[in-house]
Order: sequence, then structure tokens, then C-alpha cells
Amino acid sequence: MIPAAFEYYRPKDMAGVLAVLEEHGDDARVMAGGHSLIPMMKLRMADVPHLIDLQDVGGMSDIEVGTDMIRLGALVTQADIIDHTELSKAAPILREAALQIADPQVRYMGTVGGNVANGDPGNDMPGLMQCLNAAFTVVGPNGERDIPACAFYEAAYVTARGDEEVLTHVAIPTPNGGYAYEKQKRKIGDYATAAAAVQIVKDGGICVSASIAMTNLSDTPVYSEAAGEALLGTSVDTAALDASVAAMLGDIEPTEDNRGPVAFKNHVAGVILRRAILTAWSRA
Ligand code: FAD
Repeated sequence: MIPAAFEYYRPKDMAGVLAVLEEHGDDARVMAGGHSLIPMMKLRMADVPHLIDLQDVGGMSDIEVGTDMIRLGALVTQADIIDHTELSKAAPILREAALQIADPQVRYMGTVGGNVANGDPGNDMPGLMQCLNAAFTVVGPNGERDIPACAFYEAAYVTARGDEEVLTHVAIPTPNGGYAYEKQKRKIGDYATAAAAVQIVKDGGICVSASIAMTNLSDTPVYSEAAGEALLGTSVDTAALDASVAAMLGDIEPTEDNRGPVAFKNHVAGVILRRAILTAWSRA
């Protein structure tokens, strides 16, 4: 598998990146860790005549953990997330999810920015970021703007980011309460058949806040507001769990593929969500 010929650029700053994007338009694409893009180029599923490597652009590799907000640079890798003690204390769901992505080799290269910008419904971080109510900062010829994760995904590989914009940071309100990232996959290192991200806040034995997002069960990640609402005001008993799963099933639209038929995917989604809610509840 050899990719088509391409020009390689390695600008030292964002101005250099934006200049190449502006000059070549659709024919140019940025690369972060390259662990989604390079395989696509080798399979000739992505044609990228002008490839812009982001690795030398400064200011996008930091992890900042504040009392109210967490800020991850786009070039922070999945391995960086796993190794960062302060981040793991502030938002343990990030580490739990990152540990379920691919294998250590991929995680050393794969970045947060690449994972969320890619728009692949199989990627784990988009749903995770929706669950955490994150926002993505993008910069382009008209300056910077923030896009909520819940408004970012439009279809498979189609996002609210313009072709001439680069994602620079992810901002996450520091979560509280219990958490769980549950993923069912065919084998170690695989993308999800179904995955669920759950954050729950418990007060006096009652659920007062619940945020739920699902992965690889539609052509975009699915933030299921209804599934969260079904838990509110309950003690997360069997009836509430059933209602939450039913609400989630109404929001997803899986399609048949080599991970199974629709009925199987719906079944797995229900099992995974139930498990994630119970784990999050036990940690709340
Ligand atoms: P790249 O491959 O460099 O880029 C991906 C796309 O995002 C490209 O279109 C690129 O132009 C764009 N992009 C990258 N950075 C930016 C930016 N800052 N601004 C704008 N656009 C940008 N992922 C999972 O979530 N779960 C899995 O289970 C999983 N399994 C995998 C198994 C294997 C064998 C492999 C090779 C990959 C797997 N991945 C999985 C994907 C992996 O996590 C990728 O590394 C990640 O999705 C993309 O990050 P990257 O930095 O490599 O992005």
C-alpha cells in the first residue's frame, strides 16, 4: 500500500500552516499523528496532494488543568492523556477512554485534535467530548472561533470545521461526579461496535445530572439528551435504567456492517449503556 505522490510541508508556525491551506484549498490537508490520515492515503481513500505536518507548530501540546476548565492542545497524544496524573484526577474518564483506543503504538502518535477533527464515527473521543460538554477552538483566515462538540459533527467525515481552519485546542469544563467509558469491540485494538460515555452527579442518593453520548452507532457521535433526562430525579433503579436505554435506542441509527446487523448493534448498545450507567453511578 503506497500513497499517491504528495508535497510535504512542515511549517514552524500557524501562519505558515494557514498560508499553505489558503494557497491549495481542498488539495491541502493538515496531519497531526498521521494514524488515521496516512492509512487512508495508503488505501487511496484520501487524496492529499499537499500534506502539512503540524508537529513543529508550537503551543498545541500542553495540558492545562484548572479548577473549572481543562484545556488540551490539539497535539496532545492519547499517551500524554494516560500519563498525566493531574488530568487523570480531574477527569478520569479521559484516561479510561484513551486506554481503550487501539494499542500503545497508535496511542503514542494519535492526537486529541486528530481524533476529534477526523469526523470518523468510529473514533472514541468525539462522543467522549460531547458527554463532557467540550468545545473545540479552530483558527482560520478569519480568526478564532469555538465550536461546541455537540454541534461539531454533521455526517461521517463532515464537521463544522471549514477546510481552511485548524483545530488548536479542546476546552472541557472540569467534570464532577461519577464517570464511565464502556466500549465493546471485536478484539483488542479494534474500533467500537458500541461505546458509551457517561458522567453522573448524585445528591442524596438521587441523580441530579446525567450526560450520555454513544459512539459508532450512527454516522456521527450521538449525544442522547433523552437518555440522561430519563435518569434525573431517580435513584437509578431498574425502571430508570430501562427508560434511559430505551431513550438512547430512539436516538441512535446503526447500520449493518462487518461489526454486525442492526439488531445486534442495538442490543450491544443497550448492554454497554446499562453497564456504563451502573459503573458511573457506583463512582458518583
Ligand atoms: P491524523 O491521522 O493526523 O489526522 C486525521 C484527520 O484529522 C485528517 O483528516 C487531518 O487532516 C485531520 N486533523 C488532524 N489534526 C487536525 C487539527 N489539529 N485540525 C484540523 N484537522 C486535523 N481511534 C479511536 O478513537 N479508537 C480506536 O479504537 C482506534 N483504533 C485504531 C486502530 C488502528 C490500527 C489505527 C491505525 C488507528 C486507530 N484509531 C482509533 C485512530 C487513532 O486514534 C488516530 O490516531 C486518531 O483518530 C487520529 O489522530 P491523528 O493525530 O493520528 O490524526
